[in-house]
Amino acid sequence: MFEVLKPIPQDPILAMMASYREDTHPQKIDLGIGVYKNDLGETPIMQAVQQAEARLLQSETTKSYTAPAGSPLFNLRSAQLVFGAEHPALNDGRVISAQTPGGCGALRMGAEFLRGCSSESRVWVSTPTWANHIPLLGGAGLDIVEYPYYDYANKAIQFDAMLQALESARQGDFILLHGCCHNPSGADLNREQWDAVADLLERKGLIPFVDMAYQGLGSGLDDDAYGVRMLAARMPEMLVATSCSKNFGLYRERTGTLFIVGETPEQTSNAGSQLFSKIRSHYSMPPSHGAAIVETILSDDELSTLWQDELSLMRHRIQGLRQSLVTKITASDIQGDFSFIEQQFGMFSFLGITPQQVEQLRTEHSIYMIDSSRMNVAGLNEQCMDYFVAALGEVLK
Ligand code: PMP
Repeated sequence: MFEVLKPIPQDPILAMMASYREDTHPQKIDLGIGVYKNDLGETPIMQAVQQAEARLLQSETTKSYTAPAGSPLFNLRSAQLVFGAEHPALNDGRVISAQTPGGCGALRMGAEFLRGCSSESRVWVSTPTWANHIPLLGGAGLDIVEYPYYDYANKAIQFDAMLQALESARQGDFILLHGCCHNPSGADLNREQWDAVADLLERKGLIPFVDMAYQGLGSGLDDDAYGVRMLAARMPEMLVATSCSKNFGLYRERTGTLFIVGETPEQTSNAGSQLFSKIRSHYSMPPSHGAAIVETILSDDELSTLWQDELSLMRHRIQGLRQSLVTKITASDIQGDFSFIEQQFGMFSFLGITPQQVEQLRTEHSIYMIDSSRMNVAGLNEQCMDYFVAALGEVLK
């Protein structure tokens, strides 16, 4: 049977990372893979996480099975973080939560749940969107339709075109929105735009599916959740997928949450039972360690404060790098307006150069980013900034 199988080409990001590792250039820069990095180019374990782990080592008494929904305490803390502690949807029993294996697990199980609700409904994703959205949602059998989002020429959201495209969505279609820190563009909806999207969704009977993988890395924990909280207050039904990979630095622990918001407590509970049965048939139950860390942090004032301080340092570092990059580009001979980099949020922005220029940066200057020119801003630091700007000047000559 297996002799007919052909190899699937390696993921271009992983292939690029392998060449980065082999590159011996002393000033090489990695702006490729989407993980947060500190000034030393490392992705360290957060102190709050380390302290929570030390406590768990003492206090954990069993590794016995949990449940398809995972830990109830984690689910409660995660819901409070995402929706805010006193959100009406939480108080009214309209939210069901499931701890999932990362944001990817949340997205996939959300898609499986939605596909179980309707075989007619399609899911709309932004152009561009995070590349993995397509296999995660499409793999569950949902048909994918795209709506225009980022205008590469103007380096901003093409909001009118987005609304116009969504006008042609059919009642019951699902609309994937990035909660904050849009990956790959860094261009986020502002509050007026979120409100206008909600008007349209409401009027047309569309169901939002919000992917929020970067809460706290854009403008702050509460500001970043504006869209999710507003939609949960207004819409009868929605899904939210979140991830603790970036804001808790728990990438390999595979920790995320899927929330289903329903119209009534009874409908929500029925939806939950459908979801838990899907989870049971896919992976039975989520891994526990990352969620145990998160619930330990979020249930303790001291650890919570430490975590929030560390998270704001990360956010401010990214914002500082964005500003510094724009200042240095503006002071150089490089033509063109790069101020959009300062106005965008989270780890990613498109530099706005051609794939050939991206390749030139890689081959001539050992600077690595994906061909679309999406760069991970957190991969920069003040020491390498001059080298980066000089190299950019060379390829743009
Ligand atoms: N959504 C988006 C937009 C992402 O960028 C990511 C991580 N790169 C995820 C979801 C999921 O991340 P994870 O499964 O690692 O938690």
